[in-house]
This record gives sequence, C-alpha cells and structure tokens, in this order.
Amino acid sequence: MLALRSAPPVFGVTEAERVARELYGLAVTVSSLSGERDCNFHARTADGQEYVLKIVDGAADPRTTECQVRVLRHIAEQDPTLAVPRLHATMAGADLGSVTRDGLTYSSCLLSYLPGRLLSDCAPDRSLLKNVGVTLARIDRALRGFFHPALAQHIAWDVRRLPELLEFARCITQTDVRRNVESVIRVVQDRLPVLRSLRAQAIHGDCHGGNLLIDAASGTVCGVLDFGDMIHGPLILEPAVAMSELLTEAVTDAAALSTLLEGYALEVTLDSADVAVLFDLVAGRHAVTILLHAWRAEYGGGAAILDKAADTAASSLDWLLGEGREALSREWHHAAGTAVPKPASIDLGRRQRLLGVGAELFYERPLHMVRGDGVWLYDREGRAYLDGYNNVPHVGHCHPTVVRAIQRQTSILATNTRYLHERVLEYAEHLLARCPPHLNACIFVNSGSEANDVAWRIAQLATGHGGALIMANAYHGITDAVAALTPGSGQPDHHDHVVVLPPPPEGLRAGDAVPSDALSAAVESTDRAIRSLAGRGWSPAAFFIDTAMTSSGIYDPPPAWADAVTTRIRAAGALIVADEVQYGLGRSGSHFWGYERRGMLPDMITLGKPMGNGYPMGAVIANRQIIEAFQAKSGFFSTFGGNPVAASAGLAVLEVIERERLTENAAATGAYLRRALEGMAARHDCLGLVRGSGLLLGLEVKGHDRIAAARRAKSIVNALASRSRILIGTDGPAANILKIRPPLPFRPEHADLMAEAIDAAATATRGNE
Ligand code: PMP
Repeated sequence: MLALRSAPPVFGVTEAERVARELYGLAVTVSSLSGERDCNFHARTADGQEYVLKIVDGAADPRTTECQVRVLRHIAEQDPTLAVPRLHATMAGADLGSVTRDGLTYSSCLLSYLPGRLLSDCAPDRSLLKNVGVTLARIDRALRGFFHPALAQHIAWDVRRLPELLEFARCITQTDVRRNVESVIRVVQDRLPVLRSLRAQAIHGDCHGGNLLIDAASGTVCGVLDFGDMIHGPLILEPAVAMSELLTEAVTDAAALSTLLEGYALEVTLDSADVAVLFDLVAGRHAVTILLHAWRAEYGGGAAILDKAADTAASSLDWLLGEGREALSREWHHAAGTAVPKPASIDLGRRQRLLGVGAELFYERPLHMVRGDGVWLYDREGRAYLDGYNNVPHVGHCHPTVVRAIQRQTSILATNTRYLHERVLEYAEHLLARCPPHLNACIFVNSGSEANDVAWRIAQLATGHGGALIMANAYHGITDAVAALTPGSGQPDHHDHVVVLPPPPEGLRAGDAVPSDALSAAVESTDRAIRSLAGRGWSPAAFFIDTAMTSSGIYDPPPAWADAVTTRIRAAGALIVADEVQYGLGRSGSHFWGYERRGMLPDMITLGKPMGNGYPMGAVIANRQIIEAFQAKSGFFSTFGGNPVAASAGLAVLEVIERERLTENAAATGAYLRRALEGMAARHDCLGLVRGSGLLLGLEVKGHDRIAAARRAKSIVNALASRSRILIGTDGPAANILKIRPPLPFRPEHADLMAEAIDAAATATRGNE
C-alpha cells in the first residue's frame, strides 16, 4: 500500500527569516507561498533580490530532496536557457541546509524566485499551449542523462501505481464516477507490460498549471517549478500528465490538448507506441486525481485543494471515455506526427472458412472499413469514402449523440421489457406522437425481418385470413414467414398463399396526376391478385408494401395509385402494412413516414434499419386492440426488443433528426441531387429514368439487354468505389438501377462529388457493352 501523507510542516515567517539569515546570510522579509507538502516562502532582500526558501516536509525521503536539488544543477548545465529555479548554496557551500525545530530536523534550500503568472490562472491560447509542449520536451531532453536512485520513489500520483489505489475506489461516492474510475484502473493494469516496454527516463512528472509560470508579455512559459514528483518513467507520461492536469484544472478544453502534444513532438520525436498509450495515461491520471480526492475526503486531510479538480476530473473523464480511445488517439497521432497503427488486413480465405463462401461482400475489391464519421467511412489505410449507400447510420455514422446515449445507458442498465423502465415508454410515446391516432401501441423487436414477421402474425390473427399480397420483387426479410413475402429470397417462387402485384406506372412522381387508364389498370391488377388468392383458397390477411418500393426498382407513385390499390385490398378484408424499414424517419424528405407520401393510412407500420443508427432495432406500430389480441392469444416477448439501451438509441435518433432538421435536408439535398442526375441522364445514352425522392434515389442504367444493363450498372458502382471512393449500390428486378441512399446528413457538396463521379464512370462505360 502506498503511504499517503496529509500533514505538511508548519513554519512561521519569523522562523523563515531566521533560517535565511543563519544559513544563507541573507537579510530578507518573507511571506508564505502555498505548497502541497513543503513549507515555502517568498524572500526579498532590501535591494530587491527575490528568492524562494523551501523547508522540506520532514517526512520526505532525504534522497528525494537531494534528487530535487541535483536536478536543478543538471538542467542548468544541460540547457542553461531553460527557465527552472537556480539553486543557491548555504554559506557553508552545501546544496541543502539543515533546520531544527522542536527536536525535529528539516532540510532547507534556497532557490531563485521566478516571476510570472501561474498557467492555472491563465486562459492559454494555442500558441502558449504549443509553447508548454515545447518547454516540457526541452525539460525532458535536458533530463535524458540524469539519474538518481530517488527516481524510483513510489508516489501515489504515478499513473503506473493506479492499480494499487483500487481499494480506495470505495471512497468515491458517485456510482457512475466510481464505475468510470474502476474501468480505467482495469485498463491501466492491462497496459502495465506495454508501459514497461516504452522508452523511459527521468521526467518531471507533475507539470500542472500550478507548476508552470507564464510570461504574460511574450505568452510563453517562463518557469517550471517543483521537481519533487520526479520519477524514472515512460517519457510519454510527461505530456500525458500535463494534458490530464490541464483538463482537470479546467485550464483548457480537450480540443487544445493536441496543440500541447504537437509542441512536445517538435522537440522530442515520439514513437507510435508512445502515443498509443497516451489515452490510457491521460484517463489514468484523471482516475488518480479522483481517487486521491475521495481518499482524502474520507480520511479528512487536505482534500479542499483538490475539490474542484476532482469535480472537473469526474466530468472530463466521462467526456474522455465518451470520445473513446480510438478517436482521440487518432487525433493525437496526427498531432505528434506518428503513424496511426493500421488494423491487420483480413484474409479472405479465413473469412470464407469461418462465415462460408456465400457470405456476401460488396464490390469487386472488398472494402475493409475501420471507422465511420457522418457521411464518411474510412478504410484501414485511412482513405475516406463518401457513403452514398448506407441507411442504417441514418443520422450519420457514429453520431456522437447516439453513441453517447448508447454508452451511457449500457453503463447503467441493459435489461429487457419484463422490467419496468421509463425509456422504452418515452420512446414509444415519441414514436406514437408521430403517428395517426389509430396507430397507438408498439411492439419492439430487433430487426426489420422480425417486425414484418410479427406484423404478419398479427394480421393473420386480426383478420382470420391467411393470404398475403406484396409488390413485385418486394423485400421484407429473412424469417421463414417473411422470406415467403420476398420473392427474390431463394424461397420457391410460388407460395400458395402469396400473390404479387405489378409495380406502379413508370415515371410517375408523388405530385403527378395519374392517367385514368393507369388507375383502372391498377385496380384491375389488384382485383386479379385477390381473385388469384381466392382461387387458391386464401383470403388476404395483409398487403405489405415497402413505401419506397426499393427492391422493386424505386418508385414514387402519387397517392391516387396507392388509394386505388389499398381500397380494393381493404375491401377484401386485408390489413395494410407500411414497411418503413427503408423510407421511414424522414428519408423521403417530404414526410416523416413514407406512407404519408403515398397518401396511405396503414393498419400497421413496421420499422427497422434506421431506428437505432446501428444499434439493432425493429418495431411494429399498430392499434392497441389488435396488439392486445395478439398478446392474449400467443403471448409475446422479445429478449432484446425495446431494451433500455435500444430505447435510448432510438430516442437519440429522433432527437437528432429534429435538431439537425434532417428531413428538411433530405428534401433539399435530395432535390438537388435529383436535378444533377436528371441533367446527367440527359447527356448519357446509357442512363435513363431518375427514380425516387428525398435521399432514396435511383438512376436507371441501360444496355442492349437486361444482362448488359446490369453489367454496366455494376461496373459504374465498382468504378465509383475504387476510383472515386464513393459508395452506392444497385437494385431493382434487373439489378440495373443505381441505388443512392446515403445517411441523411448528406449535403449538396457531397451530391456534387457523387454526380461528378457517376458522370465520369458513365462516360468510361461507353462502348463497353
Ligand atoms: N423490409 C425492407 C423494406 C427492407 O429493405 C429490409 C432489409 N433490407 C427488411 C424489411 C428486413 O430488415 P432486416 O435486414 O433488419 O431484417
């Protein structure tokens, strides 16, 4: 166990003046200076010479005291321009004096007084922070050849000793703070072997805002004080301590830490391995601050000076952990000029062995993404790809609001809906507030497939029917029941109880009038489908429609079309299920729900992909009566569905959609991109109709036959991925529709990049049939 002392020596000014006179031959007037352990005085002679007189804590190891004065001589020799206090010998020529009081003997030393303002009292700008980094590095360069046995001292502030403080975690009263600290302790414990492998030397080890003096006029460091916590340790611990202390003293914000590190790396070349542990050391030092404060609070001594630091440390540790090691390390590698360690490449043979050859991959040259941010994905080489394809990261990859909501809740409680929990109710209320009054209850599951599966069961029970109507080439999921509603799923094409409706008329958009012959054709084909079901002995229980008709080829028919179709289907006794897995939560730009754009009033909504921005979620929204009838008949419980973490993710997604006005952005950017695609289609013979609305758009690719068209579409998609680093896909029954479906924060400047790339790829495919 570490010795934690809390009672520094107490000397008065008269005694200090006596010491100055008797040991150093100086007639001075003195005043007290603060000090955590030693007793420090400011001493001034009549002719204006200023000194610091130190009476060293009697409990201090004499070797440590000797080390402190030796190092000052060493630095003065190695880098005379470095602003550290100069040591003045006693009249007898000794570095340390000896003072006796009440039978106890203390050491003293006399140092030059360095003027300046404490960094902790400044609001440092970037250039000062860089200078702090440079100064620390110069200190460390000067210390390279220094050694003293006392550098092996055990001090509680040494982050490497953090695991020894674990027992004090019980003194931390706030549970969430305690949990953060304990998790940091575990990581530091794991990191110890790596820390022992790093370049190590004598370091100052305690460069906080109270040990650095600033010259206000030049905005640079003009003094480095207190070498009492020097240790032999990993070099990287030096900037780590300063970075942590500046945060816990609230001297600067987190973004500025990189500047300090950048300054440090200007003078001392850091290794990638050094920077790789920086996050854990910064977090570790936070944990030390919190632990020592909690310990002192419990055992009653000297906690007050750490009060503020402990509070800021708790919140900034929470912030650090929220940002995460990866994100901050990347920033710090950049600042230090060290290489971000590259994740290992993936052997495709291994993947096939483990996942099967049929485990699909996008693109001819499969991509290995390691990070996402907004509309960007980054591969293992650090190359950025514009994501024009993924709709799961609905509000942008790794959106901090959603990430934090998930992290926070998962660190508090992750149970299931068999326990009471506020968040799932709150989430249901938020979803239902966006629904018509008859859609007033939710069932939470974990995927779009499950949502459709449950909706299908509810529909059968509510109607007493067993038949299903779906759109041509629909996709509704992977369970046995909904794969039957997904013609391209490899299930036998002909399911007795499922009949397919033809797609809406080509080229019509939501605001267009529907020609009367097209309407009557829609009615006729619907009646035919219902008759066909009846002919096989089935009445329809449900009509499932992806409101964007994505896999059917992306359609945007006017409400009159949907009205004609659903009126006939309803009359046959079926429920209408709006599958909002693709078009829900504002993607259409004009409406929150895709069915609203279709002018439909569904009996059920199913949801999936975008709900949790990557956290797996699904939901069925329906009238409470049919949900209760289903619950009564079969009972229903989904282990993960609606769990507190999922509900928190879902709420955060809804919050971001609103706060960032993402539906409006889908409308504006979608319209902008659509115009660009239309202009381009007019210039290229191989491009046809632009389809869809909002941020779910399709661009038809033509060829002399279906196969040629699909091949050309595929080559455009691959060219975009490998040459322009822009991700899109294909869809539609002939796989010849370019599918553009980016995260909703996609902006016009991203649309420009995409349009340019498609233009170039389309030009390149000319004559390539
Ligand atoms: N419905 C639609 C319209 C979909 O696009 C999908 C997924 N592509 C699903 C349902 C199934 O969702 P999940 O993959 O989450 O099971």
